[in-house]
Amino acid sequence: MIVVMNHCADKKDIQAVISKLEKTGFQIHLSEGVERTIIGAIGDKTRLGSMSLEAMPGVEKVVPILAPFKLASRNFREENTVVCVGDIEVGGDAIHVMAGPCAVESREQLMESALRVKEAGATILRGGAFKPRTSPYSFQGLEEKGLEMLAEAREATGLKIVTEVMDPRTLPLVAQYADILQIGTRNMQNFFLLKEVAAMDKPVLLKRGISATIEEWLMAAEYIIAGGNSQIILCERGIRSFETYTRNTLDLTAIPVLKHLTHLPVIVDPSHAIGKWRFVLPMARAAVAAGADGLIIEVHPNPSEALCDGPQSLTPENFRHLMDEVRQVSKIMNRKMPDA
Ligand code: PEP
Ligand code: MN
Repeated sequence: MIVVMNHCADKKDIQAVISKLEKTGFQIHLSEGVERTIIGAIGDKTRLGSMSLEAMPGVEKVVPILAPFKLASRNFREENTVVCVGDIEVGGDAIHVMAGPCAVESREQLMESALRVKEAGATILRGGAFKPRTSPYSFQGLEEKGLEMLAEAREATGLKIVTEVMDPRTLPLVAQYADILQIGTRNMQNFFLLKEVAAMDKPVLLKRGISATIEEWLMAAEYIIAGGNSQIILCERGIRSFETYTRNTLDLTAIPVLKHLTHLPVIVDPSHAIGKWRFVLPMARAAVAAGADGLIIEVHPNPSEALCDGPQSLTPENFRHLMDEVRQVSKIMNRKMPDA
C-alpha cells in the first residue's frame, strides 16, 4: 500500500508513520515528490489490525496497490523517473538514442561506429562484449578486451556506454566499464542477476523477455527496485509471435501501457524486434510517436561483414537518415533531441 502524506505534513509526521509501519514489519520505500511525500509500505496489511493510519497527523489517504508490482507502479510514484547517466537524462525532456554494433569486434570497428553514431546525434554507445548466442559455435564476444575497447571509445568520443551483463560472476568486471548495465531478453527473469544489479549503484537497461507479459516484465523491474536500485530503463525489443517474416513482433502497444502503469522510462529496440535493417527506420519513428523516451539501434560500419546481427544493422549513412527522421517526429511530440 501507499500512504500519501498531505501538503502540510512535516518531517515529524512522516517519521511517525514510518516508525509505526516499521514496527509492524513493513518494508519502507520513500518517494519525496515536489508536491508531497508518498510512503510505500510493502508487507502484510492484516498485521495492521485495527490500527488506523488515516488518523495519524499529516496523512491524506492510504491507498492499496493492487498490482503485484508495487514500487514500479505509477501509483507509488506519480512523476516520471528520470534515469541519469552522467549528464544524460533518460526519461526527461529529450529523446536519447543509444547506437552501435551488436558486438564489439575490433578496435577499428568500434571506434568507427562510435564516431559515426556520435556524429549523427547518438549520446550512448552500445556494443556487446559478452554475447548471448543461440549457438555455442557462434562468436561469443571479446569479453574483457571488448570492455576495454568500449572504454577507449568513451574516452575518445564522450559517449556513454551500455553493454550487456549475462552472469553475476562477471558483473563486477562489466560494472567497472559500463555506464548502463544491460540485462538481455534471455536474462529478464534471471532473478539472481536481477538481485545483483539491484545492489549496484548503476543504471540498468532491462530488456523485455522474449515471451514475457508486461506484468512479468514489471515484476522483474520490481526485483531491482526492491533491492535498492530504481535507476531502470525498460526496453521493448519485440516478442515471439506466430509471425516469422520478422525476427520478432514489435509490441508498440507496450509503450502507452507502460507509461500508464509505471513511472520508469521506456525505450525501444526496433533492430532486434524486426531483424531486417530496411524496416528499422519506420518502427523507430513509430516508437517515438507512441511515446518512447529513446531508442537503441544496431549500427555497423560494414553490416555484411558483421560477426553478429548484420542483417538488422544499419550502415552509418542509414543511421544518419534515421536520426534526421526521428528528430522530426520528436519535434511533433514536443521532445528535444541532441543536435547532430
Ligand atoms: C543485444 O542488444 O545485443 C541483444 C542481445 O538483445 P536482446 O537481449 O534483446 O536479444
Ligand atoms: Mn544484436
